[in-house]
Amino acid sequence: MNFLEERIAKDGIIGPGNVLKVDSFLNHQMDVDLFQKMSKEWMKRFEGKNITKILTIEASGIGIASVVALDFHVPVVYAKKHKTINLIGDVYCTEVYSYTHQRQNHVVVEKRFLSSEDHILIIDDFLANGCALRGLLDLANQAGATVEGIGIVVEKGFQDGGKEIREMGYQLESLAIVESMDAETGSITFRE
Ligand code: 5GP
Repeated sequence: MNFLEERIAKDGIIGPGNVLKVDSFLNHQMDVDLFQKMSKEWMKRFEGKNITKILTIEASGIGIASVVALDFHVPVVYAKKHKTINLIGDVYCTEVYSYTHQRQNHVVVEKRFLSSEDHILIIDDFLANGCALRGLLDLANQAGATVEGIGIVVEKGFQDGGKEIREMGYQLESLAIVESMDAETGSITFRE
């Protein structure tokens, strides 16, 4: 097991609806030393890529993306969620279904913060069905930006998002891929 898998095995809690709760180090309380280790790993995996911006989605991607941005020395842009699209200005907009909140959100980025000059590294905490990620890819494509890679903390390998995104040809680097979770025993297995 790598450092992240060990932490998930130790502190992760399997909640209802196949939700893995990692609130003690990722989604509520944040272990920024762990974030730094994750960032160094992504730096290795995306070595040689010319990244000009990190793109993530609010809320839980922001903390991780900010630590990664410190290493890449580039700004972070986070896509904002809106229930309605009234009263928002010159934006790229897409729709994302939220797995954890079970509702559809409009997700926007102001046009002045993403352009065709940008080479983007997308960072997010979880990848399950891939809705959040497809939304971010849509925003990047609307801007004409180049997506250099995608860094995910926890991929749920028993859902189809990761497979679909890899088939689209993107370099997707998930630091832990959960193969199975058993709510009764609390056991979690990871992909080798
Ligand atoms: P997707 O859009 O790929 O189905 O789900 C990704 C988003 O849903 C992530 O940004 C994350 O916020 C949330 N999510 C999906 N599955 C889980 C999970 O098992 N645990 C937690 N904490 N969040 C999840």
